Amino acid sequence: MSEDYGGVINELVTGEWKDPLTGQPISVDINSIAIKKSLDGMEGELVHPLHRNEKLAVVADRYTYEVLGRRIGSALRSDGFAIEEIVWKKPQADSESVEELRHLTRHCDALIAVGAGTLNDSVKYASFIDKKKYSVFPTSPQLAYGTPTASISFGGFKRSITALPAQGVFFDLSVISQCPIRLTRSAFADLICRTTAQVDWLMSHLLFGTEYHQLPYFLLAHDEDKLFGHAKALQEGDFKAFGTLVRMCALMGLAVCITNTSHPGSMGEHMMSHYIDMFFHDVNPNTLHGEQVGVTSLTMSRLQNLILNNDVPPVLKPTKLKETDINARYGKEIGQQCIEEFKKKALDRKETDRINRYFSENWKKFTEKLGAVMLPYEKLSAAMRDIGAVTTGCDLGLPQAFYQDVVLYSREVRDRFTMLDIAADSGILEAFAAECR
Ligand SMILES: [Zn+2]
Repeated sequence: MSEDYGGVINELVTGEWKDPLTGQPISVDINSIAIKKSLDGMEGELVHPLHRNEKLAVVADRYTYEVLGRRIGSALRSDGFAIEEIVWKKPQADSESVEELRHLTRHCDALIAVGAGTLNDSVKYASFIDKKKYSVFPTSPQLAYGTPTASISFGGFKRSITALPAQGVFFDLSVISQCPIRLTRSAFADLICRTTAQVDWLMSHLLFGTEYHQLPYFLLAHDEDKLFGHAKALQEGDFKAFGTLVRMCALMGLAVCITNTSHPGSMGEHMMSHYIDMFFHDVNPNTLHGEQVGVTSLTMSRLQNLILNNDVPPVLKPTKLKETDINARYGKEIGQQCIEEFKKKALDRKETDRINRYFSENWKKFTEKLGAVMLPYEKLSAAMRDIGAVTTGCDLGLPQAFYQDVVLYSREVRDRFTMLDIAADSGILEAFAAECR
């Protein structure tokens, strides 16, 4: 039997795992997750309980068909499934391409995605619209498999759309460990933002009483240190290292399902990446999501460490929200959307007084609580170097002036309160941004 790397996931999927904080069993929407050294020969056995008596569209692109799709197709066929193999020539995660995919799969009852990224997002969204079930055999590590959202472009703007997670996610490490190293680095970087997202999310909870869950981090904690130690082994295709990486990817996806929010892994660092996606259109540097998030996580980590390691608390002033500036920066339409988001978290005099008082009375306790979940910047940047990931805006192909704008203005695009807001409202963000590249 092929070596199993599911760990806690196996218990989560069967509903046997209990939340250590409440003692309550946790249920997840995904019915089956397999993480094994090889799934060769097990394809039918995995798919059968989820897609019995369904005609299946096995959807791959030209590349993933060669690495795994052909094998899945012939295994399912010889196990008695009625299947249609679809080698999608030009997968795009946009509304027109999703329509094309719906047309291609119209004669099938359920979809089996063989691939990652764009292909998985499109299959997830197409099957959601058509009320069909879908499962996925990933060809690279990524966080998006287990999440209930799909990233789709509408009229050129990427949006995170509500969909349903896959019924089954089947990770064959013998295939995934052979994926292009850039994709592995990207997943690694997208995972290590755990620390900056947690600091931001917990901070928002401590200052404003917003919702916060410890559970996602409890699930990830067991593997995180191991992952840092695996940076070199991942580059050598080591199965154990990939087992850890893939398990964490799946857990982050499940955490989003369990908490019903993307907050556990998406705060300031993702806002910055979102800003790059929104405003670096014309000269798209063709970077991967995880590459962007790796770079922006390092920037957020440096900022969080700078503020929280200071013995003296920042002193906030009411948020400067200049609508004319925002409209001038983004144009009227997007400017207005940003203003709506930004208004939700902008601080007035009364709020800044309250927070300043809280800081002056509780700064030590506050920084200890956040310090307990924050990693040193040096630890993050060493891990990124060890795996050979890109680490600066310049590495992403972004002009320095644009990356400084990312640091300065990305807080305007979403209502989530992060350390970027603390830095801006206490007057230190400009000097900080001026040193970013
Ligand atoms: Zn991400």
